[in-house]
Amino acid sequence: MRIAVIGAGPMGLAAAYQLTRDGHQVVVYEADDRLGGMTASFDFSGLSIERYYHFHCTSDRGFLQMLDELGISSSMRWTETRMGYWYGGLLQDWGNPVALLKFRGLGLLGKLRYGLHAFASTKRRDWQPLDRVEASGWIKRWVGEAAWDVLWRTLFDYKFYQYADNLSAAWIWSRINRVGRSRYSLMREKLGYLEGGSETLLQAMAAAIKAAGGEIHLSCPVQQVVSSDSGQSVAGVQLAGEKFEEFDRVVSTIPLPFVPRLIPDLPAKVQQQYQALNNIAVVCVIVKLDQPLSDKFWLNINDPEMDIPGLVEYSNLRPLDQHVVYVPFYLPGDHPKFQEPDSNFINKVKKYLKTINPTLKDSSFIDIRASRYRYAQPVCQPGFLDSLPPCRTCIDGLWVADTSYYYPCDRGISESIDFGRRLGREAGSAGNSQ
Ligand SMILES: Cc1cc2nc3c(=O)[nH]c(=O)nc-3n(C[C@H](O)[C@H](O)[C@H](O)COP(=O)(O)OP(=O)(O)OC[C@H]3O[C@@H](n4cnc5c(N)ncnc54)[C@H](O)[C@@H]3O)c2cc1C
Repeated sequence: MRIAVIGAGPMGLAAAYQLTRDGHQVVVYEADDRLGGMTASFDFSGLSIERYYHFHCTSDRGFLQMLDELGISSSMRWTETRMGYWYGGLLQDWGNPVALLKFRGLGLLGKLRYGLHAFASTKRRDWQPLDRVEASGWIKRWVGEAAWDVLWRTLFDYKFYQYADNLSAAWIWSRINRVGRSRYSLMREKLGYLEGGSETLLQAMAAAIKAAGGEIHLSCPVQQVVSSDSGQSVAGVQLAGEKFEEFDRVVSTIPLPFVPRLIPDLPAKVQQQYQALNNIAVVCVIVKLDQPLSDKFWLNINDPEMDIPGLVEYSNLRPLDQHVVYVPFYLPGDHPKFQEPDSNFINKVKKYLKTINPTLKDSSFIDIRASRYRYAQPVCQPGFLDSLPPCRTCIDGLWVADTSYYYPCDRGISESIDFGRRLGREAGSAGNSQ
């Protein structure tokens, strides 16, 4: 069959990879001028690096299997990383039981309750009982108000703002679980990166797709999915300049909020389901320093003077010639702050980093940039899956999904690859009618 895949992020590429492997004729359309979506790289004054930080966990099965199939597993590296917590004007160790006990700013009972919750979450396997539970209440019941206020509250508030008190506990659990299980031991955390960054994976996937006869068109946004028989079945896609391309099947992997405009023939009820979904945007500042900020990879932050939940000193995971720090500002896309210019975020970052490490001077900042992604993270409320329309749509031959569909897992490369392959298998094999 001739099949169009819309979007060349990890999910779209994985769908196309699977479809070409299964013998279909595949064309991928990507709006951006490069592969990757959220995983895309840019030229950071001579360093090719992702616009947004990426790390991998030992449990990232779909990703590791893909590396294997592409013959690039030897590019995978694992590092013993350290976490920190910026609290009370101090950079404190974090991420293991000893650090928790030594933490300054919380009583022993709060620490024990926090530790018990983290431990139970990494041992839990079944997410279903948490699906309809609200996350902040769930955490408070385990850890108490004091530990919630010190260790959790800002992580919720500075990522989810008005949505912070209506998130799914199953979704929060899966985030704790994924990182909590990626360890050498109780004391030692183990995270991974790809030599060359995500670009290594993207290029290898694109090469495999093309080698199997697939096509990938960059800077080529699909304007509309066109259907026939009064919206009964898919006919093809419309590109810029009213150009129509005919396809037997279409698989869309672009963020769901774009879907109502992309597929106007979907019934009003389905359109409303997409429109009701909430998403978080990100303004991510990346900094190149002439000295390290700290020895931590991941730093949680709770400081009344800083409107961020944490930052990532990426070069403490992946050794680079310079020290690279990512500082993400997550916020709802309709928040007035999202309209502020990049310079506001950049100035804040300079101030925050100099507070955390007072030896940094203005001259320590070699380069600094900001990137934005409007739909960076779905907001998953309790029972989230039930709010999504089926990914096999009511238009015959049309599949629609994004990172929301692998709830309760958080958005991730491995999960997008797994889901993309599943979409590819389904779209390539399903019969014509529902
Ligand atoms: C700040 C940040 C940090 C992250 N950290 C990690 C991490 O540490 N580890 C990890 O595993 N994951 C991480 N992720 C998540 C990971 O990047 C995503 O899960 C993954 O990239 C999602 O891939 P996708 O293909 O599903 O979606 P996307 O990457 O969103 O791809 C969708 C694609 O569709 C394209 N598109 C949109 N409209 C059209 C159109 N009309 N026509 C054609 N194309 C279109 C877009 O340009 C885009 O390329 C992070 C993400 C962010 C934002």
